[in-house]
Amino acid sequence: MSEQDEARVVQAVEKRLFIDGKWVDAAEGRTFDVTDPATGKTLCAVADASPQDGRAALDAAVAAQPEFAAMPPRARADILTRSFQLLHERIDDLALLMTLEMGKPLAEARGEIIYAAEFFRHFAEEAVRIDGGYQTAPAGGSRFLITRQPVGPCLLITPWNFPMAMGTRKLGPAIAAGCTSVIKPAPQTPLSMLALMDILAEAGLPPGVVNCITVTDAGPVMEPLIRSGLARKLSFTGSTQVGRLLLEQCAEKILRTSLELGGNAPFIVFDDADLDEAVEGAIAAKMRNMGEACTAANRIYVQSSVIDEFGRRLAERMAALPVGRGAEPGVTVGPLIDKAALNKVETLVADAVDRGAIVLTGGQAPGGDGYFYPPTVLKGVPREATMCDQEIFGPVAPLTPFETEEEVIAAANDTEYGLVSYVFTNDLRRAVRVAEALESGMVGLNQGVVSNPAAPFGGIKQSGLGREGGSVGIDEFLEIKYIGIKV
Ligand code: NAD
Repeated sequence: MSEQDEARVVQAVEKRLFIDGKWVDAAEGRTFDVTDPATGKTLCAVADASPQDGRAALDAAVAAQPEFAAMPPRARADILTRSFQLLHERIDDLALLMTLEMGKPLAEARGEIIYAAEFFRHFAEEAVRIDGGYQTAPAGGSRFLITRQPVGPCLLITPWNFPMAMGTRKLGPAIAAGCTSVIKPAPQTPLSMLALMDILAEAGLPPGVVNCITVTDAGPVMEPLIRSGLARKLSFTGSTQVGRLLLEQCAEKILRTSLELGGNAPFIVFDDADLDEAVEGAIAAKMRNMGEACTAANRIYVQSSVIDEFGRRLAERMAALPVGRGAEPGVTVGPLIDKAALNKVETLVADAVDRGAIVLTGGQAPGGDGYFYPPTVLKGVPREATMCDQEIFGPVAPLTPFETEEEVIAAANDTEYGLVSYVFTNDLRRAVRVAEALESGMVGLNQGVVSNPAAPFGGIKQSGLGREGGSVGIDEFLEIKYIGIKV
């Protein structure tokens, strides 16, 4: 990809708000800058929505709701299928656009477009299988007809780390279920979602069904929408801190709520595991998205008899990963999203080292342009280290030794989070025992990636409410209605 390609894909994307099927400027005419985290330079400016724009977007979604709910499921599915195809047709440009605004290497950006598109294909298949029931009342005399209807207009809020997939993971089931929506991407990465609006329109989505607003300061724009009672659901992916706040706001009008929040994934390696497989699993679980993933391995517990060997192999693999601008060929580790993210990682590593951790590789930001941090492996990280409690959100693998199964289960569960856990062992009975004992919504057993559009993704404890994807993903956007029939 040349510099001309980069300029072309940024230029091609609409930078205004998408409301009621039209591109419009923000009512107050404000814009905000989008930055390339690999250079720190401004890529472009996009519209900065006001509360008035937010309300216009929600009004459009509310107005479009009845007709869209009545659209035949097959027609909704066809729109999703066509959007799936268009995402594939435009994958090169979309991947480059994502790399420029977010920093991830091109290969990962392509992977995300494929993953994102898959949610549309999956939910196109679900749209035509929304089922119901018919039952005789136990005492006779009446019948129960059970049907499912769209929840209604939805507010969808997404984070910056997966700019396209976190959007399609909500829009896929919303469209399949017959719900209209207002989607608000993160201010760091609005371009991918804006590009998706053109695709949905081209695929035949009627005006008003999906509206997209970009905004720097989300609170003042989103809170009135949540509290208005006009939207019937909020689906949020982001930090636990913001999720908690939004859940409180949703309480006022009792909105249906789905929350995909932060994680603090334990990654457990027993001494009977295949160590090569465990190292590859750790690379996948740690380094996907430069460690900026809710599913990232955040605490790596290794049985003490194999920790030296595991640490040596992991450090060797990590040290060999090419770091650089995501758009450059061969790069597998891009920059972090911004200066604050870089500062956070530096502070967490300094804290762990102060508490006695040993740096096996990395550990020092290179400085210069962009927000780069090298792949880092730390050994002997004590459980009191701050990074064991917080999402690192960077390419840092902290290794902590353990002796027994009971001890490691207790350590793994000692967190407010419960999104995903990883376990590496070749002992089947232990695998089942440990997987069942871990307090998380998902477990990767001898594998470092769990995300799959056909599987129910989500967390327990303070990692979230509800599931996205899988056969249950559409349920989040449907209400059950029971009709009692006298016979
Ligand atoms: P964030 O919570 O800061 O922001 C997420 C989104 O919420 C953004 O669009 C932001 O603009 C918006 N937002 C922020 N304050 C708001 C407010 N007061 N009202 C309404 N909207 C508001 O999170 P982030 O830094 O963008 O993303 C990283 C976080 O997301 C991490 O904690 C990560 O674990 C989590 N995440 C979770 C999943 C999952 O599926 N569980 C997936 C990806 C990311």
